[in-house]
Amino acid sequence: MNAVIDIKPLAASPALGCADAPVLKERGQREVFCGLTGIIWLHRKIQDAFFLVVGSRTCAHLLQSAAGVMIFAEPRFATAIIDERDLAGLADANAELDRVVTRLLERRPDIKMLFLVGSCPSEVIKLDLSRAAQRLSKNFSPNVRILNYSGSGIETTFTQGEDACLASLVPEMATSTAPALMVVGALADVVEDQFKRLFDALDIGPVHFFPPRHAAELPAVGPNTQFLLAQPFLADTARVLEARGAQRLSAPFPLGAEGTTGWLQAAATAFGVSASRFEQVIAPKRERAQMALERHRTALAGKRIFFFPDSQLEVPLARFLSRELGMGLAEVGSPYLHRQHLAAEMALLPADTVLSEGQDVERQLDRCRAAQPDLVVCGLGLANPLENEGFTTKWAIELVFTPIQGFEQAADLAELFTRPLTRRTKLAA
Ligand code: SF4
Repeated sequence: MNAVIDIKPLAASPALGCADAPVLKERGQREVFCGLTGIIWLHRKIQDAFFLVVGSRTCAHLLQSAAGVMIFAEPRFATAIIDERDLAGLADANAELDRVVTRLLERRPDIKMLFLVGSCPSEVIKLDLSRAAQRLSKNFSPNVRILNYSGSGIETTFTQGEDACLASLVPEMATSTAPALMVVGALADVVEDQFKRLFDALDIGPVHFFPPRHAAELPAVGPNTQFLLAQPFLADTARVLEARGAQRLSAPFPLGAEGTTGWLQAAATAFGVSASRFEQVIAPKRERAQMALERHRTALAGKRIFFFPDSQLEVPLARFLSRELGMGLAEVGSPYLHRQHLAAEMALLPADTVLSEGQDVERQLDRCRAAQPDLVVCGLGLANPLENEGFTTKWAIELVFTPIQGFEQAADLAELFTRPLTRRTKLAA
């Protein structure tokens, strides 16, 4: 192993909804990023955490490209390269890893939480990172918490990296029986602050955001914790929180005016906020968001959109685009459809929505060509070839990197879909 390489509520109409609709399940070749990608937004969120990928030069390259910027300050993610000697079993990879971690933590006292992030190569050589994390924790606790999770592309799509990371944090949470609301899923700080102000105005509290901004602020959990998922890709995290006694509040996701209202309504109902108080606080924000969406509705209404499976945000996005912006849904593909977590969303989709789960990319490309949608949401690997064929595309990954949740971001979210269409119109002019 080489030295560390620093790289830098509207109610659903019973006539609508596709909760019981058949889903096209596919298990073929996939075109998605791996779970390492989550490091890009997670390292910004938990400001004293460090992510050490135990992987190959390919993994280092992926992170560097996905970060998309040169990092001049001290970076908070890096790759410990597994080289040929490690792969051939000639070097003691555990001893090498201990040496790399020790040197890193001696050099960087600002690090309070270290994630050892597994990759395809570390899985191939069966490097046991959970034992490594336990072993190293003995040397470095209580100053540094050392945890591990897998971002390997063998099993995960790119947003599942966040799920694996957050799930690894849950056993670290203290137990509490005090009633509290936990918002689960990384949100941009600006969005988190907006939600915090809304919860305060509704007298809902205490509210904890998970992941926290600092390692020491990990919230406690217990049977009186109620949690709202802010992201639809957190199946494992929700499961381990529920195993600690916490209860998930069923809600649509906070995308668009309608989704945000439904999401906040779930918390308000659970915390006994009166309907009149809720309306008094929420109505002005909701109405402003609806007004801001109007001009995008003019641009998008009647256009048809096709989602390739990528981020697991596809179902909430399709609900937003169809109900608030009048778009037609050619196909809504998702890597994984968690029916329980998506129940409130699926109830709001048109009954004839074509839903697909998993991927067989060539067959899906054929369906896309046959459907001739106005806009295609897909991963980077498919976007250029589709643009060459004359399709207008939107990179799915941008939807994860951009603050899109909440009332104040509703129009920004719509803009992400109008922009590629506007660009195509200008190019054609
Ligand atoms: S974890 Fe696997 S899929 Fe991801 S960059 Fe490394 S080798 Fe590639």
